[in-house]
Amino acid sequence: MKAIVLDEHGGPEVLRPVELPDPEPGPGEVVVEIHACALNRLDIWVRGGLPNLRLEYPHILGSDIAGVVRRVGPGVDASEIGREVVLNPGLSCGRCEACLSGWDNLCPRYHILGENTRGGYAEAIAVPLTNLVDKPARLSMTEAAAFPLTFLTAWQMLVVRGQIAAGETVLLHAAGSGVGSAGLQIAKHHGATVIALASTDAKLAKARELGADETVRSSDPDWPKQVRALAGVGRRGVDLVFEHVGQATWEQSIKLCRTGGRVVTCGASSGWDARTDLRHVFFRQIQILGSTMGSKAAMFRIAALIESGALSPVVDRVFPLAEAAQAHRYLDRREQFGKVVLAVRPT
Ligand code: ZN
Repeated sequence: MKAIVLDEHGGPEVLRPVELPDPEPGPGEVVVEIHACALNRLDIWVRGGLPNLRLEYPHILGSDIAGVVRRVGPGVDASEIGREVVLNPGLSCGRCEACLSGWDNLCPRYHILGENTRGGYAEAIAVPLTNLVDKPARLSMTEAAAFPLTFLTAWQMLVVRGQIAAGETVLLHAAGSGVGSAGLQIAKHHGATVIALASTDAKLAKARELGADETVRSSDPDWPKQVRALAGVGRRGVDLVFEHVGQATWEQSIKLCRTGGRVVTCGASSGWDARTDLRHVFFRQIQILGSTMGSKAAMFRIAALIESGALSPVVDRVFPLAEAAQAHRYLDRREQFGKVVLAVRPT
């Protein structure tokens, strides 16, 4: 099979095309013929190197995969062959306390496809049968690849950790990012009022199209003041802050959160060394909630809401698999609104 691999950490230039043996399905596994694979910021971090990340080279990136089941391993019914699927990006043992209580993303053996196991920048992948979710029929393969990781992450942040409720106000950072555009829709679906932040007017216009009630340009130095000036915010602040920017916005996220409100964080794209004024946390009883990925079970709910049209993945741009390095450079420029997808097969 054709694949794009890396043999060392580095810039986009370390991504190179190779021919690899086709994967073999192990017991309980299937081989999925990959049609599309979406990029995530995780791909850029893994490419560049992360502390404690040990890769087996050649490594294949890519966590968000859509395709068709072509082969089954021992113990898997042949009726699976031909099924159009999206892959749950999280791998877990399936038998520990965390897994069996629906918190498989807390499994001690939790892995993400493309992070520390081979991913989707290739024509095929072997995965456990338990990672398959039916592809929402109304989506193309490129659209289907664009939803798993970001919608799962945003769902866990807002619904599972944040316990979002109708009528609440959510301050949502970086609405143009994959997780931002997913979070915006999930918050609206739950009846919240969404204040979306993004760096350009073009992105703010798209955020409004996706349902944002208010938009504020985060590149304006006085953006926190502009948020405060909105009706319903004022001195009180917002009920829930959707954080994934980190260092650059963290202090303001805490300040803009109302007394007794929640700040949910799943990442730190601008840096992790953020300052927290603890007086805000204890005097104002703010809850700071960490969140990462989501449970396999949540993917079924998300896929059903996507099938019904309540949620929709946003595809910004599609590159052919062979242009994975260009796609990385494009994602790194942060000009996109929504997902960047690699088309592995013409659809
Ligand atoms: Zn487990």
